[in-house]
Amino acid sequence: MRGLMQDYPLLVHTILDHAALNHGEREIVTRAVEGPIRRCTLSDLRTRSLRVAKALQMEGIGMGDRVATMAWNTDRHVETWYGIMGLGAICHTLNPRLFAEQLAYIINHAEDRLMFVDLTFVPLLEALAPKLPTIEKYIVLTDAGHLPESGPPNMVAYEDWLAQADADFAWVRCDENTAAALCYTSGTTGNPKGVLYSHRSNVLHGLMVNQPDVFGLTSSDVVMAIVPMFHANAWALTYAAPAAGASMVMPGAGMDGERIYELLDQERVTATAAVPTVWLGLLQYLEETGKDLPWLKSVVVGGAACPRMMIEKFENVYDVEVIHGWGMTEMSPVGTTGSIKHATAHLQGEARVQLKLKQGRSPYLVEMKVVDDDGNELPRDGKSFGHLLVRGPAIASGYFKHDEEILDADGWFDTGDIAHIDALGYMQITDRDKDVIKSGGEWISSIEVENTAVGCPGVTEAAVIGIAHPKWGERPLLLVVAQADAELGKSDVLDWLQGRIAKWWMPDEVLFVDEIPHTATGKIQKNALREQYRDFQFSE
Ligand code: AMP
Repeated sequence: MRGLMQDYPLLVHTILDHAALNHGEREIVTRAVEGPIRRCTLSDLRTRSLRVAKALQMEGIGMGDRVATMAWNTDRHVETWYGIMGLGAICHTLNPRLFAEQLAYIINHAEDRLMFVDLTFVPLLEALAPKLPTIEKYIVLTDAGHLPESGPPNMVAYEDWLAQADADFAWVRCDENTAAALCYTSGTTGNPKGVLYSHRSNVLHGLMVNQPDVFGLTSSDVVMAIVPMFHANAWALTYAAPAAGASMVMPGAGMDGERIYELLDQERVTATAAVPTVWLGLLQYLEETGKDLPWLKSVVVGGAACPRMMIEKFENVYDVEVIHGWGMTEMSPVGTTGSIKHATAHLQGEARVQLKLKQGRSPYLVEMKVVDDDGNELPRDGKSFGHLLVRGPAIASGYFKHDEEILDADGWFDTGDIAHIDALGYMQITDRDKDVIKSGGEWISSIEVENTAVGCPGVTEAAVIGIAHPKWGERPLLLVVAQADAELGKSDVLDWLQGRIAKWWMPDEVLFVDEIPHTATGKIQKNALREQYRDFQFSE
């Protein structure tokens, strides 16, 4: 028997309708790419998104067409998202930090028809345009006065383009499982693969992250979305904030400590989210200037492991709660947050830091488990580590235009991360499955050795890779970037590690290097390191 409830599809534009009607006065404040701070309301945002949808329709764009964006976090970028999806087209976010060949591959694979692009990236696209036959028009997110003289062919200024359309447009009412957005993963090997989100998955994921123990946004919050819309959907803040009626602050291209601080302070931001690198810049700025964070209540740190000093500084010096988050493009992207729960509320000092170093608990709508190589579930004891599998309504079931089966028979997706889960549900990543070091049949967590090494005074960055070993299969090699003024030797690093990690995890060699290679999304490029040290041999 079917339930007798309304057939109300979960479509992305319903978020904006709700926001404009009930929180229309809340603002979206942007550091424009052209320079100045720009303000509009959620009500204005809806009107302009309707105009985007209508102007796209006038271009002949319709259901299922791919429309790309290559842009910073700005009000204009948000309205293109809602406009594209509200028309039934698919919003394809492009990460400008990818290599040109990867971008060309992605755009051609997606067969994008139009592209919204920020001024910053016009020179890049001018060079790339001859390789992008499917793009009919480049709409530069600026006004005619700022449009550069040269650029890709068929380039128009966004404000001129938008001026031709009024807001008399009816959002498409389609099945909630219709594709809404596309984002390619920037895997370290092989061609990038497209994750195709639906309206339903975007709405459910937006609601999921608004649970109180996740980001818990409210209509009194002012949220600064620093994590880019072009990588992992700004962790859903562009859906979660309007759904809650929170004001949004968008940093545009200004990602350095000083400009981030200026917006946090002037706009009295209460909650924000970014990768550790951004927070390092802010913390350094605060230290240099002696400034404070009087308005900020919480900061989400994710995308890479949150360093210990970040938790200590934010919580102990600035009285800002750190929420450590983990996720991935395939998960829309949020998978866990390390919020305190009833059973951990009493923890203080070192015990609290240890808890916050974990990647956290899964909210309702994410299921997770850890299994061994044979697929047997491992106990939730906080130490048995294995492959981390996930399941939920906002998790990919396949890749765009790929036949490859990515779920097991029970619908679980293998994240490629190695982790353990404790009895209270807190998960901790110990490695990527390709990076874990297999020594004598046991696993060594390269991440744990790296994190411990980074705590050694004088160490800026550390990477650990497995090197073939005749007796043990693999043994760890530690690569260290030392601070310019540090007088640091191999024995200092090894002495530091001694007693802090298991004896048999101790690196067999420590090498000092000038830099460690990173991927376009800031992760250590372990495969490049493995290639570089392929012939390395430990001395006897
Ligand atoms: P991406 O799809 O590019 O966002 O990358 C997702 C991957 O980033 C995950 O599978 C993890 O390996 C890594 N990652 C994300 N958040 C964290 C975190 N808090 N700690 C450690 N690794 C993380």
